[in-house]
Amino acid sequence: QIASVNPATGEVWGSFDESGEQAVETAVASARSAFRGEWGRISGDDRAALLLAWAARIAEAVEQLAWLETLEVGRPIADARALIAQGPLLIGYYASLIPALDERSEGAVRRPRGVVAAITPWNFPTANVLIRAIPILAAGNTLVLKPSELSPRSAVLLAQLASEAGLPPGVLNVVPGSGHVTGAALAAHPGIDMLAFTGSTRTGQAIIQASASRSIKPVTMECGGKSPQLVLPDMIDQPEIWPGVFHAAFWNTGQWCAARTRLLVPKGGLDAAVEGLRAAAADWPVGDPRDPATRLGPLASGRQYETVQGYREIARQTAQVVPLSATPGADGFYAAPELALGAPQDGALVQQEIFGPLLAVQEYGDLDEAVRLADDSPYGLGATIWGADRDATDRIAARLSTGSV
Ligand code: NAD
Repeated sequence: QIASVNPATGEVWGSFDESGEQAVETAVASARSAFRGEWGRISGDDRAALLLAWAARIAEAVEQLAWLETLEVGRPIADARALIAQGPLLIGYYASLIPALDERSEGAVRRPRGVVAAITPWNFPTANVLIRAIPILAAGNTLVLKPSELSPRSAVLLAQLASEAGLPPGVLNVVPGSGHVTGAALAAHPGIDMLAFTGSTRTGQAIIQASASRSIKPVTMECGGKSPQLVLPDMIDQPEIWPGVFHAAFWNTGQWCAARTRLLVPKGGLDAAVEGLRAAAADWPVGDPRDPATRLGPLASGRQYETVQGYREIARQTAQVVPLSATPGADGFYAAPELALGAPQDGALVQQEIFGPLLAVQEYGDLDEAVRLADDSPYGLGATIWGADRDATDRIAARLSTGSV
C-alpha cells in the first residue's frame, strides 16, 4: 500500500494498493486483447464518437476531478477547475483529426502501433494523463497508463468515466503504483509496442534503458526544463511586463516543466525586477489550496518540499535572496516565491531544475552575452523574450537553442 498525504496539512488521508508485476502483466494482456478485438476493428467515426462521449462525461465530472487534484497535490481549487475544464476541448480537437488518419496518400496507410504505455508525473494530474491518453487512443491504440504515485485517483476516475462512456474493456488500463515497482515493470515489459513518458530527465534516462532491456520499441520523452526569460533593455522600465514574468516563473508554485525560472535583465535592471515582481506577487496569494481565493498552493509533497528547501539554502549561500511574499505559518508544504539575485551561472540555481518557487535573476551586458547565458543550460524546453520591437525579438529567438519561444 502507498499512503497519500494532503500537502496542505501534511496529514495522511488515504492509501491505495500498488500494482505489482502481476497487475502490470494483466493490464498489458488486457490491452493486447482489446487491440486484437473490437477496438482494433472499430471505424474512425465510431472511435471519435466514443471519445466525444468520454469528453462529455469528463465535462460533468470537472468538480470531482478538481477536488482530487487539490487533495492529492495541493493545486489551488480555482486553478484546477479552470484547467480541467479544458480537457474535453482537447478531446474534441484530437477527435477532429481522426478522419485525416484514414486518408491515404501515395499508397501509404496509417495504422496504430498497438499497445502503448504511458508514464506520467503529478504536476498537472488530469492534464498530464489526458495529453498522453487522448492522441494514443484517437490514433486507435490501446493504453496502459501509470500515473504518478502522488495522483493516482484522477487517473482511475478518468478511466472509469471512459468505461461509462462506452470505451470497450481493455482500451484504457490504469496501473497505480510507484516508479521503481509499477513503472519499472511497465517500462521493461516486452509486450509494449511504444512508450510515452513525461517526467524528470533522470527518470527518462532510466526508462529508456529499461525499455530496451527485453525488447526494442520507440519511446517519446517529455522531460524537465530550466527555461530563461530575457528582458530586453527597451522593456525593463515597463511595469506591465512583471505580472507576466511572475506568472511564467511561479504559476503552479513553480512546478511545471516550462516554468521560466531564470530571469536575465540588462545591467542595472535588478531594482526594476525586484520592485515589479514584488508588486506582481501581491496578486498571487499563497495559502490553502481549498480556498478559491488562493492562487499559489503548497508544494505537492514532502519530498518536493525538502528539495526546494535545499535549493533555498544554496540561494542563501550563493546569491542575494529576496522573498516576494510571506510563507504561510500553517502545517503543510508551503514555500512562498523567492528571488535569488546574482545567482552564479555555473551554480545549481541556474543549471538545475528546482521545480519550486525560486527564480534565479542575473544581469547581462550586451545581447550576445544575454543569448550566451540563456543558452548555457543542459535543458532547452522553452524561453520567453520581453521586448518592444517584434523584429528584434524574432532575431534573438532564432539564436536560442530551445524548443519554443
Ligand atoms: P519523475 O520523473 O519523478 O516521475 C514521473 C513518472 O515516472 C511517475 O509516474 C513516476 O512514478 C515514474 N517513475 C519514476 N521512476 C521510475 C522508474 N525507474 N521506472 C519507471 N517509471 C518511473 O517526475 P515527477 O517528479 O513526477 O514530475 C516532475 C518532472 O516532470 C519535472 O522534471 C518536470 O519538468 C517534468 N515534466 C515534464 C513535462 C513536459 O511535457 N516536458 C510536463 C510535466 C512535467
